[in-house]
Parts: sequence; structure tokens; C-alpha cells
Amino acid sequence: MSNKIAIIGAGPAGLMAAEILSEAGYFPIVFDAMPSAGRKFLRAGRGGLNLTHAEEFTLFASRYFEAQSFLQPALDIFSPDDMQLWAKNLGFETFVGSSGKVYPLDKKAGPLLRTWLRKLKNSGTEFKMKHKWLGFSNDIWQFETPDGLCEYSFDRVILALGGASWPQLGSTGTWVKDTKRERS
Ligand SMILES: Cc1cc2nc3c(=O)[nH]c(=O)nc-3n(C[C@H](O)[C@H](O)[C@H](O)COP(=O)(O)OP(=O)(O)OC[C@H]3O[C@@H](n4cnc5c(N)ncnc54)[C@H](O)[C@@H]3O)c2cc1C
Repeated sequence: MSNKIAIIGAGPAGLMAAEILSEAGYFPIVFDAMPSAGRKFLRAGRGGLNLTHAEEFTLFASRYFEAQSFLQPALDIFSPDDMQLWAKNLGFETFVGSSGKVYPLDKKAGPLLRTWLRKLKNSGTEFKMKHKWLGFSNDIWQFETPDGLCEYSFDRVILALGGASWPQLGSTGTWVKDTKRERS
């Protein structure tokens, strides 16, 4: 398919979007400001990466509080069981800890991330690291790169830029300000 689709943000949300698109026959381009993908995800694995929780689904969904109504359709089509199946299909068995949290057997993020990235690259997803998205104007998307300002145009763009915590891992949250500026 010829649609040029960009995903900005190479954390787990952006990588999952790339996987879904690639399964649908697209070849997305994933941009990230950092030199490598999934830095916060890797940090998450240091203390033992829990992928989801094994509690009863209705109770699980209620943990999202005021966001539940918004997120319920997504939870319905990708439940905690689907999450475990996803990891298994990638080659990572999981187990339920005494807290009910679900971990890959080694509790690590590194091996899972490396396998995931390899799968995405093998299926045609392109990665452009050290590309910090600055904003857009008249359908031109601007990125700061080591080679200077780069401009791209796309048919579709998915923003998966993360929240504002652990900025040293890339999740600065400054994109909120940038997109507000573009809208005004
Ligand atoms: C210490 C720690 C432990 C954790 N443990 C767990 C756990 O066990 N289980 C769990 O599920 N979660 C855990 N988390 C939370 C988990 O890491 C996050 O929920 C997850 O990384 C969010 O994914 P995301 O893709 O939405 O955002 P992020 O992972 O933050 O990814 C966003 C990406 O966008 C990029 N980006 C941001 N701005 C720009 C820009 N302007 N231009 C280009 N790129 C940009 C960033 O560089 C980053 O790579 C933990 C987090 C921390 C810090």
C-alpha cells in the first residue's frame, strides 16, 4: 500500500502502532528524538517488567478510573489475556507473580524489546532515530536531526510521544505545548 504513514515516538505505544499497521500491510516510518527505541521501556525492565495484571477483567478495567469509559473499547479488543498471548507469540512466556502482576519469565525488557524491533524491521518498518519532532506547518513536518532541520510530508501521522516523566529517557512532554501552538 502506498500510504506514507509516520509514527512519532518509538516507545511501546508507537511500536505497537507500527506492528498493527505492518500486519495490515503498511510500511510505517517510526521517528524518535532519542538515539534508540524504547528507552523508558528498557528502564521499566530494570525493576522487573510487569506486562499486565491477571485480576478479573471488570476489576482490571476499573483501575483506569475516569479514563475507563474512553479506554474500554481498546481494552475489550486487547485484554490482559491478549497481552500475554502477544508476548508468547513473540517468544516470551509469562508468569503471574504473587501480586497478580504478569511478567516475562526473565522479568527483563531488553530481550523482548530487541526481538520486537527485529520483527518490525523484518516486516518493513523503517526507523529514524535522532529525529526530534518540532512541529508542522502546511502539512510539512519538521524534525531536528544531527544533519540539521529535516522536513517530511505524510499521508497519516500517529503521535505516540509519551507522557512527561523521566525526560532523560525522551519522554519530555514538550510535544503538548508544540501541538497546542500548531492548533492555535
Ligand atoms: C522506572 C519505571 C518503571 C516502570 N515499570 C513499568 C512496568 O513494569 N510495566 C509497565 O507496563 N510500565 C512500566 N513503566 C511505565 C512505562 O515505561 C510507560 O508506561 C511506557 O514507556 C509508556 O509508553 P509510551 O510509548 O506511551 O511512551 P514512552 O515510552 O515515553 O515513549 C515516547 C517516545 O516518544 C519520544 N519523543 C518524545 N517527544 C518527542 C519528540 N518531540 N520528537 C520525537 N520523539 C519524541 C521519546 O523519546 C520516547 O521514545 C515504568 C516506567 C518507569 C520510569
